Amino acid sequence: MSENMKNKPILTSLVAAALAFTGNAFAGEDHEDKMAGPNGGRVITSVEPHLEFFVTDDRKVRITAVDDDGKAVELGEQSVRLTGGSRSNPTRMSFSKAGGSLVSDKAFPEGNHLPVVLLIKADPEAATVIEKFNLNLDDCPGCAYLEYACTCDHEH
Ligand SMILES: [Zn+2]
Repeated sequence: MSENMKNKPILTSLVAAALAFTGNAFAGEDHEDKMAGPNGGRVITSVEPHLEFFVTDDRKVRITAVDDDGKAVELGEQSVRLTGGSRSNPTRMSFSKAGGSLVSDKAFPEGNHLPVVLLIKADPEAATVIEKFNLNLDDCPGCAYLEYACTCDHEH
């Protein structure tokens, strides 16, 4: 721990330099910084604090606030709504606090490829952030996560 503390300023500037370089090298590419959330879910970085989107074993959604390192932090006044699952008959989920996270009232229908639209408000006064993605619940062949939360760069 003390070693980490000592090295932190150096690491921080290294990371900053690496990010600056990456920003130039991949300019124009849609390269999200890939990191795993505390539950192994997808980290949504379009809001502060970031939110981990995790599908539970019973196919409900668990939203957990995380910091820039993907570590769980205390939930604030975030509110989240979700529409998705089936395009013709979408499931509309609302969320309530449970165990330090926001958990959906409904579960996804069957299937491993589900369109998702998330409406996120970081707090009651904040503008709504819309996050759309294709929820792919297949195992990733290249890393330990499911495709929607994949942290590797394998070809799709
Ligand atoms: Zn992967």
